[in-house]
Amino acid sequence: MELAMGRIDDTSGRFILSGCTPAFANSFRREMIGGVAKLAIEDVKIYDNTSALFDEMLAHRLGLIPLRTERSVHVPAAECACEGVGCPACTAIYTLSVEGPRMVTSGDLIPQDPSTGPVDDRIPIVKLTQDQKVVLEAKAVMATGRQHAKWQPTLTCGYKNYPVITMDEHCDGCGMCVEECPRGVLAVRNEKVSVVKTRLEDCSLCRLCERKCFEESIGGESSIRVTPDETRFVFQVESDGSLAVLEIVETALRHLKQKALDLETILSEVSEGESHAATS
Ligand code: SF4
Ligand code: SF4
Ligand SMILES: [Zn+2]
Repeated sequence: MELAMGRIDDTSGRFILSGCTPAFANSFRREMIGGVAKLAIEDVKIYDNTSALFDEMLAHRLGLIPLRTERSVHVPAAECACEGVGCPACTAIYTLSVEGPRMVTSGDLIPQDPSTGPVDDRIPIVKLTQDQKVVLEAKAVMATGRQHAKWQPTLTCGYKNYPVITMDEHCDGCGMCVEECPRGVLAVRNEKVSVVKTRLEDCSLCRLCERKCFEESIGGESSIRVTPDETRFVFQVESDGSLAVLEIVETALRHLKQKALDLETILSEVSEGESHAATS
């Protein structure tokens, strides 16, 4: 199995995973979405709220604000040494006190630990008119997207099969497929159609080119064929900013490895148990 990084920065990444099954690619995708823990606001004590929003609505909106999370410092609450009591390793505390008229934004959340501040200070929470007020204290905890979608560190997280495009010797370079392709993947060169260098990964496998060639052909055969490579996948991952894309990828892969090792141990224990039962 091989993972080749394409372009990657803290908030988005594109990479190729090859030499694996579709089941593994899907497990990897699911682990990135639901298995990588991050901070999100879970408990809110509202001391004063005269805004147009109910307390519950306000708390819900606070829960969806992405918070910066340090993988080296923060651990999921379920695995923390404090055993769920709450400590700086698994929780973060914030205060907010705003009086109208103005928009309350994520930047008004004051973190006790500045490294756990909101990813973006401009996220609107509620608009206050004259004399309206919001005063509250919020507690964020580390958990995963399996518990609630607000703990998912990814915005986009998907993959497609790597496209394989082939042309046979009957291609006359008419260019119909080039005009049909919505992604600019194809071009005519030397009276033959070919894939534009660096554009192959942009192919969506829509097969419009194949259909066009088939419609225009005399013999009822398409000269161009587009097929998915069943062992190679193009991943596109975007982070909400709470964790860097590389941290999400690495953590998900570490989890999958640990799960495979755990399964191996369980299976060997089961087979040992069976052989004991057979000999006794
Ligand atoms: S439509 Fe068919 S024949 Fe025409 S350029 Fe494309 S592959 Fe070749
Ligand atoms: S399958 Fe779709 S995107 Fe890919 S080359 Fe053909 S028309 Fe273009
Ligand atoms: Zn703790």
